[in-house]
Amino acid sequence: MSVPLEMKRVTRVHGRGAGEVHALRGVDLTVRKGELVAVMGPSGSGKSSLLNAAGGLDTPTSGSVRVSGVDIARLGARERAAVRRREVGFVFQDLNLVPALTAVENVSLPLELDGVRPGTARTEAEAALAELDLTAVADRYPEDLSGGQQQRVAIARALVGGRGLVLADEPTGALDSVAGDAVIRVLRARIDAGAAGLLVTHDARYAAWADRTVHLRDGLLDGSDSDDVDLSSPGELRGADA
Ligand code: ADP
Ligand code: MG
Repeated sequence: MSVPLEMKRVTRVHGRGAGEVHALRGVDLTVRKGELVAVMGPSGSGKSSLLNAAGGLDTPTSGSVRVSGVDIARLGARERAAVRRREVGFVFQDLNLVPALTAVENVSLPLELDGVRPGTARTEAEAALAELDLTAVADRYPEDLSGGQQQRVAIARALVGGRGLVLADEPTGALDSVAGDAVIRVLRARIDAGAAGLLVTHDARYAAWADRTVHLRDGLLDGSDSDDVDLSSPGELRGADA
């Protein structure tokens, strides 16, 4: 059985020359089925860079990122996008719900973009909304939903179609504690049902819902050695196990 997420010696350098930022400096991280891992660390420590690399929104400067066994760092943009749509659900702090679409339309959108027939997409979207206790508001527009409901719609959209890896970047950041708890509870239930997840949070109360917590500092996870990229030969793996 393939592992939902396996990152090895991942580095990411943003920009170049004097403005260069080493956002990730050799990150090893494995997340198994049924496992929720909390990612904590100060602002600028590389948490978002880590999630973006894990989900194929960004490519690492070096290292490998295996999603269900496929090294997405080695795929072209089109193939990477296809793996991302099929396997990865993102939840961001700014929800990116489409204001002109109802809740159920927002949730079925990624399936339709992936070529699923509209009737089937709608059925799956309704099931995802039901799982999050949102059936009653399925036909409402985002502006007619509370903040907590909007966030649950965003989670339903991230989970629809049975994606195996959920990446949540401070999903509770804009919510009060009751709504925040509801979001984490739903995320936890979905992981228990067989998905895998990374949860970036500043709040130890939410991190407590995870199976373990890793800490990022200056682009390194606690306990790991720096494998900072050699600028004279970008992309080279220096002595790393394949
Ligand atoms: P966090 O999410 O922990 O706040 P980020 O991954 O967003 O950290 O950022 C890590 C470092 O990389 C920061 O110094 C940030 O300024 C820098 N960075 C992130 N994205 C970019 C980018 N697209 N271009 C240049 N620098 C970036
Ligand atoms: Mg961030």
